[in-house]
Amino acid sequence: MDGRLTFLGTGTSMGVPTVGCGCAVCTSTDPRDRRLRPSVLVRWNDATPDGGRERVVVIDTGPDFREQALRNGLTRVDAVFYTHAHADHILGLDDLRPLSYKAFREGEPIPLYASAATAATLERIYEYTFSAQATYPNRARVQLKTLGESTVVHGVEFRRVPLMHGQMEIAGFRFGRTAYLTDVSEIPERSFALLAGLDHLVVSALRYKPHPSHATVEQAVEWARRIGARQTWFTHIAHELGHQATNATLPEGMALAYDGLSVPVELGTV
Ligand SMILES: [Zn+2]
Ligand SMILES: [Zn+2]
Ligand SMILES: [Zn+2]
Repeated sequence: MDGRLTFLGTGTSMGVPTVGCGCAVCTSTDPRDRRLRPSVLVRWNDATPDGGRERVVVIDTGPDFREQALRNGLTRVDAVFYTHAHADHILGLDDLRPLSYKAFREGEPIPLYASAATAATLERIYEYTFSAQATYPNRARVQLKTLGESTVVHGVEFRRVPLMHGQMEIAGFRFGRTAYLTDVSEIPERSFALLAGLDHLVVSALRYKPHPSHATVEQAVEWARRIGARQTWFTHIAHELGHQATNATLPEGMALAYDGLSVPVELGTV
């Protein structure tokens, strides 16, 4: 099935420009050097006999989710997948509220798919949303669901791809012939089998200097070569990497993604 992948944000946890920084990338006039916190959107038309409806899945709702939803004209979210519970991936959860009220009028809270560890952190931070005792009237109409190996959203399959982020196991996702792997410092051997035959690979590449819980550009290029997707996009990018200068050094078929980039993708139906 035809879908689209849109990059809502391609920056690292601090975003680019980074607060208080006057470096060449943070002061660049190239709009592709302005990076909101990392997130992507997958959309498709479910092609039901009544003419079909647009379906929208978001992976992570970081602190810039509100701005990202406005920029991309989001009017619905059918499901959210969480990779892990770091601030740059979850702190926009409350900005699902307006879309969740709209969805709720159609009957259902928005499902949020998360591992047990991620869900526990979400429940703690958003106690006023998830606790049965909470009396907060304006809570998001959302429902935590356990992330399994395979999740089907309106006929489209999202497979979990286990990844290591420092010492923590987190979730990457494969949907059709595309994979989104962010905040990865190591791809476990068993996960490579889930990454065969990709058109688009999205993988995080922080900077050149090593980091304990993120891949460098060099490491990400090495994975990209091994996985062999038709096109690899790097994301979760720090301010050390200028868009144009970095792209000029990358191998054919690999490039830094940028906020607003949107590509057609082939999704898998179930
Ligand atoms: Zn992150
Ligand atoms: Zn900077
Ligand atoms: Zn993280």
